[in-house]
Amino acid sequence: MTRTVRDCLAEAGPTFSFEFFPPKTLDEDGQLWQTIRELEPLRPSFVSVTYGAGGSTRARTIEITEQIESDTTLMPVAHLTAVGHSVAELRAIAGHLASAGVTNVLALRGDPPGDPNGEWVKHDEGVEYASDLVRLMRAHGDFCVGVAAFPYGHPRSVSLEDDTAQFIAKCEAGAEYAITQMFFVVDDYLRLRDRVTAAGGEVPIIAGLMPVTNMGIIRRSEQFSGAPFPAKLGARFAAVAHDPKSVRAMGIYETSKLAERLLEEGVPGIHFYTLNRSKATREVWANLALGARL
Ligand SMILES: Cc1cc2nc3c(=O)[nH]c(=O)nc-3n(C[C@H](O)[C@H](O)[C@H](O)COP(=O)(O)OP(=O)(O)OC[C@H]3O[C@@H](n4cnc5c(N)ncnc54)[C@H](O)[C@@H]3O)c2cc1C
Repeated sequence: MTRTVRDCLAEAGPTFSFEFFPPKTLDEDGQLWQTIRELEPLRPSFVSVTYGAGGSTRARTIEITEQIESDTTLMPVAHLTAVGHSVAELRAIAGHLASAGVTNVLALRGDPPGDPNGEWVKHDEGVEYASDLVRLMRAHGDFCVGVAAFPYGHPRSVSLEDDTAQFIAKCEAGAEYAITQMFFVVDDYLRLRDRVTAAGGEVPIIAGLMPVTNMGIIRRSEQFSGAPFPAKLGARFAAVAHDPKSVRAMGIYETSKLAERLLEEGVPGIHFYTLNRSKATREVWANLALGARL
């Protein structure tokens, strides 16, 4: 029987997973496959491939996901967004994935192409929210569907209460797990988990971590996470900003510490945003002595 993220989450112990994005050039393609080969021996629970806001990389997401399924021992999760697709196109993609043996999908609304903060415009014959896409994927095939969660609330949410209610609606539509946007302080994850639990949500929420390997990640983090980088931690990085090696070492140390705290708190899984590089993830992995699982 085909394995799913649901199966991995049902097993004892946390899941460990890695996220990649579809490369744009041949060189980047080589880099991605090198990274995949370097991470494969760690035997992650699954790996996921993001879906671009538009353009040619969208087809690459599907191709890469299918190639991971056919050419590696890894279990791929295909990200899919509602941006710019009609329901008929989304159904065709679902059929394509299913026929290639890809049964795991992360269903997202996506952001407007060009300007992530711009006005969201639904495709005339498409769907409005991630919950609609979850429903569509669950109705169309035997997919295990995950969704996004936001420790600081989604930037478009009117309030944290509403964010939580819409998150729970997305799970009730058929999502079986969630992966968080990146965060850097354990309490930010715990507050999200508490909010969801208090509102009756039971879906496992996997923690999404991105090791800080340079100051650029800190500068761009608000764009992804929707919240400023934590001030106290930011000051510690700023103090060593003149020395890239120290920034990187601090990033690996802090991510390892964060992952350790999350594991102590019983997090169901940890998902590494790899940026298509393996070294930082492997270093955090080694610090956590995850080699014991091999
Ligand atoms: C783990 C992870 C992976 C990601 N991967 C990708 C990717 O591969 N490609 C990509 O383009 N983007 C990706 N994103 C970003 C994501 O697409 C954006 O953050 C997007 O703006 C929101 O997507 P969503 O699925 O959370 O949307 P939704 O769950 O639809 O939520 C969007 C907003 O609408 C609100 N809302 C939801 N339902 C309703 C309703 N019924 N009525 C009123 N309001 C509602 C929500 O509260 C929220 O404010 C990812 C994010 C995460 C955390």
